[in-house]
Amino acid sequence: MPELRIAIVGAGAAGLYAIQHLLEQTTWDVKIDLFERLPTPWGLVRSGVAPDHPEKKQIIDRLFAFFLRDERVRLIANVAVGSDIGHEALAARYHAVIYAVGADDDKMLGIEGESLSGSWSAREFVAWYNGHPAYRHLPVDLSAPRAVIVGTGNVALDVARILTLPIAQLAKTDIADHALDALRRSQICDVVLLGRGGCRQAAFHSPELEELLHLDTVEVRIEADDLTLATDEACHRDMRRKLDILARLQQRQCHAPDKRMTFKFHHTPISVAGSHAVEGLNVAISGASPKIEMLPCGLLLRAIGYRGRPIEGLPFDIDAGIVTHFAGRVQHDGQIMTGAYVTGWIKRGPKGVIGSNKYCAAETVGSVLDDANAGRLAINAQDDVMTLLTDRGCCPVLQEGWRHIDEAERRAGRPSGRPRVKLTHMAALLNAAQMPGQSMPTEAPARNMSRGDHD
Ligand code: NAP
Repeated sequence: MPELRIAIVGAGAAGLYAIQHLLEQTTWDVKIDLFERLPTPWGLVRSGVAPDHPEKKQIIDRLFAFFLRDERVRLIANVAVGSDIGHEALAARYHAVIYAVGADDDKMLGIEGESLSGSWSAREFVAWYNGHPAYRHLPVDLSAPRAVIVGTGNVALDVARILTLPIAQLAKTDIADHALDALRRSQICDVVLLGRGGCRQAAFHSPELEELLHLDTVEVRIEADDLTLATDEACHRDMRRKLDILARLQQRQCHAPDKRMTFKFHHTPISVAGSHAVEGLNVAISGASPKIEMLPCGLLLRAIGYRGRPIEGLPFDIDAGIVTHFAGRVQHDGQIMTGAYVTGWIKRGPKGVIGSNKYCAAETVGSVLDDANAGRLAINAQDDVMTLLTDRGCCPVLQEGWRHIDEAERRAGRPSGRPRVKLTHMAALLNAAQMPGQSMPTEAPARNMSRGDHD
């Protein structure tokens, strides 16, 4: 079988599903290098999925670990494509480079005061409680009684649950220890979620909404007057289910609640109040009697969606926050960039659940294979990329190193019945990854991540 060398950049769901499709084809002898800038793989499955959803992580974890064990796949973690190695160097050594880098930035509200301390994107907050090394120092202040979350998508629900779940429940998860400590001391007892549309336009999914019915210590208030369907009103099955859950939440009696979660619809943020830190959010309320109101709060989380970041050397659609492409082939003004591909959120925008990446990757890998079959892909450097990386002073973490980290984290979790205790310092991760005879720098090089340092 002819050899096909592929580099995949980003070891999250998008990259791993691309690997699955490549391993399943039978025409080419594929050799896949999976690049990841952190010392740990799995992307948002590790640093995005909520800690109280362990079943999702376990299934994915097992599936992805299975792909990674294949001898045709080599993990090259702790290497940042863009700073440690650029597109040209990769393009020379691989027939195809597939970017699966996700959406690493935030949509902004574009209102005054948005950058005050205490106003974070949900992406940053999620990365903080999930132990992403670049966000462990995020100065999250939970000392005020109220948090306001802008947006009503699944991410908004995730962060609302983390702020309100009993500590005993969180303590059984793999939430980062620094977040667990902060949440233990949290004074937040009132979490408000804001939708600029009505409840029928809310972005959350029914299963995620339904989970709120099981929050025994949280009173959930739904401030909406359009929950009831008219007898002759046509309504999609999904919408009917959502309205039904909202109505059940509205009617639910919570005995002795510790905390409260309130959904307010038709509320549009207009400015953040505060001089040095967030003191409140001014909102315009639409409806029969429009008005402007100030919602006092000490924590403001913008769960309004993620955004892709431009990749050096690749065309980028600033408005959509994606790399421009045709069926996964990177293209600019109709010109295909031979050998460069995208998959996942950097290809289609920050939409869809983990499994959506499987279909997205099928299209991209289909394009790669079509191009390979048509003889359009070539390499012009035969040396192993590891030589170049070592010459440049990089310290890649390979599969074995990741296995050491994984085992160390799982071992640390066992005494307290947790799935794992995450290592959140770069130095601790690299130390755990270390194999006999290998030396790792204790200070990790900057990895082009936006917040905080690494150690
Ligand atoms: P999302 O589903 O796109 O929701 C974004 C929310 O922000 C919407 O309510 C949107 O309201 C609102 N919004 C956007 N711009 C706004 C603005 N300028 N002012 C006020 N509100 C604004 O995004 P997400 O919650 O970040 O989730 C991203 C993807 O990950 C989704 O596909 C989601 O399903 C998925 N996800 C899945 C899970 C899970 O399966 N459990 C967990 C987390 C995330 P409008 O409708 O008014 O624009």
